[in-house]
Amino acid sequence: MIIIQNAKIFNGINLISGQSILIENNIIKEIGKNIKSQYCKNYIDAKKNFLMPGLIDAHFHANTPSYDFYGSDRYPKSYIALHASNILNDTLLRGFTTVRDAGGGDQGLHMSLEEGVINGPRFFYPGKALTQTGGHGDMRKKEYIEHCGCAYSGNITKVVDGVDEVRKAIREEFRKGAKHIKIFLSGGVSTNLAPLEMPHFSDEEILTAVQEAQRRNSYVMAHCHTDEGAVRCVNLGIRSIEHGSLISLKTAKLISQKKNTYVVPTLSAGQLIESMGTKLGLGASSLEKVKEVNLKRNKAIENCVKAGVKLGLGSDLHGRQYLINQSKELILRSRMQKNVDVLRSATSINAEIMQMKNKLGVIKVGALADIILWNDNPIKNINIFNNPKKHLLLIIKDGKINLNKIN
Ligand code: ZN
Ligand code: ZN
Repeated sequence: MIIIQNAKIFNGINLISGQSILIENNIIKEIGKNIKSQYCKNYIDAKKNFLMPGLIDAHFHANTPSYDFYGSDRYPKSYIALHASNILNDTLLRGFTTVRDAGGGDQGLHMSLEEGVINGPRFFYPGKALTQTGGHGDMRKKEYIEHCGCAYSGNITKVVDGVDEVRKAIREEFRKGAKHIKIFLSGGVSTNLAPLEMPHFSDEEILTAVQEAQRRNSYVMAHCHTDEGAVRCVNLGIRSIEHGSLISLKTAKLISQKKNTYVVPTLSAGQLIESMGTKLGLGASSLEKVKEVNLKRNKAIENCVKAGVKLGLGSDLHGRQYLINQSKELILRSRMQKNVDVLRSATSINAEIMQMKNKLGVIKVGALADIILWNDNPIKNINIFNNPKKHLLLIIKDGKINLNKIN
């Protein structure tokens, strides 16, 4: 049992008047003014600092050690996993107590985290991300001859064509415990096969994916930059539109009407690719595409805010040295939204997207005990996310203390 006293509490939605929290095992059992218990041996005095639910990164990649995507898809699993271990450990120490993997995250990492072999956040994984032949996730360069005619499948992505292949691949990922399914629905920035505006998959294929996921009480997240792609997402039942960089106001209104469709912008990714350019090893076409995306993506977010779309938050960064900037996603978002809304996106709304409403991303009786404490108030000073290590005082994940600099 842990009792945290004397905290300023943001519960994932609002600031609340309670000042203390009782945690038993991994659950928040009580919130109140001045909780005491004769059974508690672990009191933490928060000294009026800012307590909130652990952050959630809803677009994360554990199994890509760098921006060499063609390599990551082929490197030995052991190499990928050792990198992932470092990435996950660092991520937790930045205050992210949950991540949703967006392609490549697998049951091996989940098992290792659960068993305590490695340390890191809660890990929601899709297994391999599914792409059509020649789609954004097809990790075969167009310059390559494909000697083998069989379907391509790498560490991160898998190529599927036609309703039957889509269905089979999805059932296979759910067999391995996938928490959600990831598909590519438009072209993207970082690979060279598909132009940005290219629609991926037929409607029947997408519908098959959505229905298969629904049968497992799960959902589909779709990589989708385009406005036209976002309309397809809404009409075909995709829950989570990833990137959404070119969404118009008209489409934003459509998304908003469908209560169970969300958008997860990923600003850090575009920012990094534009500023680092060729140093990341990406080609000229990627740099051209990212410029177009970066010019329009802020407008797309503004359109979503205006229409009342529920926005999640994800960083979409790859590799340990670039994930240092993971928390800056919140700062980038604060240019289009109020700070408190950015915090809501990174906690309660992300949890809702992940079908974990009231369990994660909230400080609430009955919720899982994922709690962080800052030495400054991010609603007033969002810039603390420039240097999370300096400002974090306490990290509790699943009722266990991972960092305690307060006492
Ligand atoms: Zn993507
Ligand atoms: Zn991604």
